[in-house]
Amino acid sequence: MKVEGERVVLSVMGDDFSEAVKRVLAARVANRCSDPGCRAITSGPQDDPAKAVNVGVAAHITAASPGGPRYDPDLLPDERSGPGNGIWLCQNHAKLVDNDPARFPVEVLRKWKTDAEAEARDRVGKAAISAGSSVICIEPGARVRIGPIVPRQHEQSDFSLEEDKGKYLSFKKIDSARIVDIPKSFIEKVHSFGNSQPAIVELSGRIQWVSAKRRFELLPDKPPSGPAGAYGIGKNVDFGYPAQLGIVGSFAREERLPLLLTQGWYVYYDSDGTYLRWPGPDVDQILVCNWV
Ligand SMILES: [Zn+2]
Repeated sequence: MKVEGERVVLSVMGDDFSEAVKRVLAARVANRCSDPGCRAITSGPQDDPAKAVNVGVAAHITAASPGGPRYDPDLLPDERSGPGNGIWLCQNHAKLVDNDPARFPVEVLRKWKTDAEAEARDRVGKAAISAGSSVICIEPGARVRIGPIVPRQHEQSDFSLEEDKGKYLSFKKIDSARIVDIPKSFIEKVHSFGNSQPAIVELSGRIQWVSAKRRFELLPDKPPSGPAGAYGIGKNVDFGYPAQLGIVGSFAREERLPLLLTQGWYVYYDSDGTYLRWPGPDVDQILVCNWV
């Protein structure tokens, strides 16, 4: 009878992760939140020298029980509670991704997980280079260039460091009122060249404009290097896609873009930060808009 009772409880709770699965998920990302904009450390010491505190959560990529966020009925219970279905996050981000599954679909979480694991793989056994550590040594007032910025033409803009806000560095675009707050966890490297030249702040993602107001947004993935990434990361759409979304714009051949951009046209970026590419009859074309 007792066993029966326990089974009922287990099925109500869904296919939860075992302690072993939680431990492996945390270790595979070096005990850091897998959200690319966060990377908070999820464990630390308690007052009791024999104990450690854990603020990380093994979140389900697809929910443990029917009705939960991103539930996938096709998974077997073993798969649902297996490490392949988990992502290690801080408590804040675990809550966020479960409260807003439309904004954080399975593909996004899988990408976060892959990237966080790749980052941990790169860094394992090496001295810390960033992620909020004191190695970011630029003084307020210092002039910097930030990269990658999309579109690439803006990489030539200089910024000045306004303020160190702890988890963030606040930069102001020189000769403008634009401010961009960049989490230190987003900063991959800072190259300093003394006082004569601006330092170069390299991001592990990118900043770009995704709106007509040209506000900076931080996006987690880097565009490909070379000319392929000059306009960021693209996605293929049908010719009719812009009209369906009510976007007024035109598809233009990529080689015409440098000229069009000097004539007041802008590359259109979708809400996910990608530009729109239409594989046209002969050559790929990119959507541009004339914002007024
Ligand atoms: Zn987090």
